[in-house]
Amino acid sequence: MAPSTLLRLGLIGFVVVWLFGPDVLRSTVPVWLAFAVALGLELQFFVGALRSSPRPRPDRRPQAADRARFGYAEEPAELFLVREQGEEIWVPYSGESDEELDELIAAERERPDWEPAPVETEGPLPPALRGLLVGLAVIGGLALLLWYVDSHTGWDSISAETRAKATQRFSREASRIAGKPVTIRCDEAGNVVGAVQHADGVALVGGDVAYLTPERCFDLYRLAFDGEITSNRTARALAVLAHESWHLRGERDEGTTECYALQSGVDLGRSLGLSANTARQMMRQQLTENALHGRGSADYLVSPECHDGGELDLNRRSSRFP
Ligand SMILES: [Zn+2]
Repeated sequence: MAPSTLLRLGLIGFVVVWLFGPDVLRSTVPVWLAFAVALGLELQFFVGALRSSPRPRPDRRPQAADRARFGYAEEPAELFLVREQGEEIWVPYSGESDEELDELIAAERERPDWEPAPVETEGPLPPALRGLLVGLAVIGGLALLLWYVDSHTGWDSISAETRAKATQRFSREASRIAGKPVTIRCDEAGNVVGAVQHADGVALVGGDVAYLTPERCFDLYRLAFDGEITSNRTARALAVLAHESWHLRGERDEGTTECYALQSGVDLGRSLGLSANTARQMMRQQLTENALHGRGSADYLVSPECHDGGELDLNRRSSRFP
């Protein structure tokens, strides 16, 4: 199979798995990366095909002028016309003996009268360009599929009215954690001056508005309105909402904020429809993962005091944590 075909099949497979496969792929590999790589390879194939496209080969044999000058005699000196049984056959002749000449005549006679040279069948476009266009069409088609699936399954697929209801609900929950009325928004926030920016949310420390990414809002919506849980993603969305709420409450330190958030996340999860057990389990899982993977990013890494009975334990009388 041609490398370009393999690449296109690979990209199709990746996008399908990315869309419908395990969440872990979606949350670790940005899909545009696959498109960027595919586009780069398509261009490389195109340039490669342009370079290797057939062009007239230089004749490396001695040219007529050279032969004349240096007296080479290997080239057929003349064509020899043989007439036999009404046939006319031209035989290249350069001083062969009679027997050799007979063989040459026989060979010429066996050739069909008219033998078209094999010509590469080409469409209206050169093959290199055709390949590039096919590649671009595959990439464009997949981008369209992504856009379609995304707009029919994500936050944007919900009606504006329901979205407003959902954000009101999130705002109520956030206000309980923040201890004051605050507003949660689910749009792309852009740059909010002085705000703490995270991958999943933005909040002004001590402020009254926080932004969550549409993905997180959608996971919260599915939990609160449809009772749908997607393991890790639901837990993360709860933690993010709680996290931004704690920033609104006035907490600036990221490690402290995340530690409080994972504890508040239990009540938050219950309030949005989880059982107490599930909510607790989810937040514990988040805490464990935080300890395992958090080292790379300072964003949500909890501090060492984040344990039962530790300085950051919000409820020291309880032996459960979070
Ligand atoms: Zn934060």
